[in-house]
Amino acid sequence: MSTSALSEICFAAGDRRLRDGASLTFFYGPMDCGKSTLALQMDYNHARQGRRGLVLTRNDRSLGAKVTTRIGLSHDAIDVTDDLNLVELVRERWAAEERLDYLICDEACFYTVEQVEQMADLVDVYDVDVFAFGLATDFRSELFPASKRLFELADGVARLQVEVLCWCGRVGQLNARVVGGVVAREGEQVVIGDTGTEGTAAAEEVRYQVLCRRHYRAGDLGPKA
Ligand SMILES: [Zn+2]
Repeated sequence: MSTSALSEICFAAGDRRLRDGASLTFFYGPMDCGKSTLALQMDYNHARQGRRGLVLTRNDRSLGAKVTTRIGLSHDAIDVTDDLNLVELVRERWAAEERLDYLICDEACFYTVEQVEQMADLVDVYDVDVFAFGLATDFRSELFPASKRLFELADGVARLQVEVLCWCGRVGQLNARVVGGVVAREGEQVVIGDTGTEGTAAAEEVRYQVLCRRHYRAGDLGPKA
C-alpha cells in the first residue's frame, strides 16, 4: 500500500469524528504490514489539523518508550504497563491543562482487556478519539485477548494488508513463531523475538515469519528456511 493510500485510510477514519463524535477504531494486520507507520501517519494528520494527541505503545521493537518503524520513522511514546489506567492518564493531562483530543495506541494487542474497556470509556464518556493498532492473532493463530475485545467493542475495524506475502506468493495472514527452525505450536503468548534480521541462527533462536494460512497450518517455512 502506498503512503497516499495510507493517508486516505487515516483521513477516512478521522472524518468519522466530524459526523459521529469520537470513535474507537482498530487497525489490524500481520507483522510487517506497516501498522506502526500508519499509527505515526495518523498522528501526523491529526496534529496537522490542529488536534492534540498522545502516542502510546507496548513491547515496541526498540524495547523502549518509542514507536519505531522499519522504514525509519520514530516517535516518543508512553510505555503502556499493566497498571496504567488510560482514563486516568488523560484526566491527569487535562488537569495539567494539556489539551488532548485523541490517543494513538500502537501494539494494542499487548494491552490488557481492562485497558481496552478504558479506551471505550474515553470515547463514550470523554469524547476522546482512540486509534488502536495491533496484531489480531498470536503465533497459535488465536486472538490476543485485547484484540478480541477490540473486535467486540470498536466502532470500526480495518484490516491492513501492505504487501506482506508468504514465501509462496499468497497473502500473508498469520504470524508464525519459529523456534530452532520449526513453527512453534505452543508456548507463552508473548515472546519477543528477532523480527528483522536474516542469516544463520542459533538452534533455539526465536523469530517470527508471516505465512499464508495453508503454509502456517502445514508448518512449511519454504525452500529457504
Ligand atoms: Zn504460503
